[in-house]
Amino acid sequence: MADDPIRTRFAPSPTGALHLGNVRTALFNWLHARGHGGRFILRSEDTDAERSADTSLTALTEALAWLGLSVDEGPEEGGPYGPYRQSERSALYDDALGRLQDSGHAYRCYCTREELAEARRRQLAAGRPPRYPGTCRDLDAHERAEREAAGRVPTIRFRVPDEGSVMFDDLVLGPQTARLREIGDFIIARSDGSPAFFLANAVDDAAMAVTHVLRGEDHLTNTPRQLLLLDALGYGRQPRYGHFGLIMDMDGRPLSKRRGGAMLDQLRDQGYRPEALINHLVRIGFAPPGDGIIDLDALAGAFDPARVAHGGARHDATALDGWQRQALEGLDADALWEWMAVAEPDDAIGLPVAGPVFAAAVRPNVLFPGDGWHWAQRLFDPDAEPDDAARTEIAAAGPGFFRSALAVQEPAPTADFGAWAKAVGAAAGVKGRGLYRPLRAALTNAVEGPELGAVVPLMPPDLVAARLRACAAD
Ligand code: GLU
Ligand code: ZN
Repeated sequence: MADDPIRTRFAPSPTGALHLGNVRTALFNWLHARGHGGRFILRSEDTDAERSADTSLTALTEALAWLGLSVDEGPEEGGPYGPYRQSERSALYDDALGRLQDSGHAYRCYCTREELAEARRRQLAAGRPPRYPGTCRDLDAHERAEREAAGRVPTIRFRVPDEGSVMFDDLVLGPQTARLREIGDFIIARSDGSPAFFLANAVDDAAMAVTHVLRGEDHLTNTPRQLLLLDALGYGRQPRYGHFGLIMDMDGRPLSKRRGGAMLDQLRDQGYRPEALINHLVRIGFAPPGDGIIDLDALAGAFDPARVAHGGARHDATALDGWQRQALEGLDADALWEWMAVAEPDDAIGLPVAGPVFAAAVRPNVLFPGDGWHWAQRLFDPDAEPDDAARTEIAAAGPGFFRSALAVQEPAPTADFGAWAKAVGAAAGVKGRGLYRPLRAALTNAVEGPELGAVVPLMPPDLVAARLRACAAD
């Protein structure tokens, strides 16, 4: 079906916040759809009613929108294959479960948890891989009735053929083969009748005409089972699957919600730009042509799952900060200010110049919005005091140096900082570090920071004079 329009999906369980691994899954699926003029679907896998909350789904939808990953069909957008919440699709799963039982592809299993655990122990003790021993495979009507009379509530298992194998061509990893004898009959409905992940996920992908499923390697062993299910259900149209390596943290552990590392909402609250996150994530395992921040459309044009690396995916926070720097460099002054303004503290000092002018002046010294407000306070608060290093620098230069500086009135430091500083140097007989370090300490209260020529002209002339005077006093 090469001519079918490409349809991909992101199918999270809305049980909490997204970590960067989830985001990369969404991103790769979005890129693959967009790169081929296809459609990107959001499906909420919320069959676990207790843990799923609609608030999480709302947060998730907002997060995707913030990242720029527009959804074509989903719980809020609707679409021709809805509903897009699994909790609203149970009729479809019931139908599939009924058909699988009618055709003999599935059967009721009455084994208790204890019996299954015992079988598992025996198999492991005998050095065999544990799998369902087939106890209930061929029960007759009488045996079933007996168990039901004893109050046993069945699960439903899929009957995996004993011989043969399932093969598929993984979009990332290439040809894969799974031997059926190693799979074992697996549960497709729990004892409360609710569908297991394998079933709901596979049925929905087929029913929603999903053509490509890109997901983490933790699902690789699920795929043969899902292909068996789709075959048994007579779905001629099956998605192609691709699995990429899970992102590890720098200690080599998979990112997880539980450990709380690299959570999207936290990174967003810290002030990371969406384009920084996107460019960071796309480059974990994939090398788009070109350097620097690349926009989503261009990434979509370049994306190819076959070129995603087979493992070694690492989230390096330092690399992310590098992308953040580049993202900030790419913003115009208005956008930069808008980004900074969101984090304005309650006790923020009033700016003596327009916000965008200030933001552009401190851009090289800012990675997060709070950094900008930190500089606003240091530069513009009349009560701001030099830090320890600045104090030492001021003392070393001595009051005489600052008296010379005060004496230079033409040009004013705020009018032409470069010319003023040169004149101060000539008057005091110093240049280079000996000139600029004490000036920086006196004027910005710190020994490192923004380009003086960019920020001193933004300061009120009175404030500049007052700071010099404070240093000129013995
Ligand atoms: N709900 C599943 C998960 O979040 C979906 C897996 C898949 O993409 O097929 O892991
Ligand atoms: Zn059984």
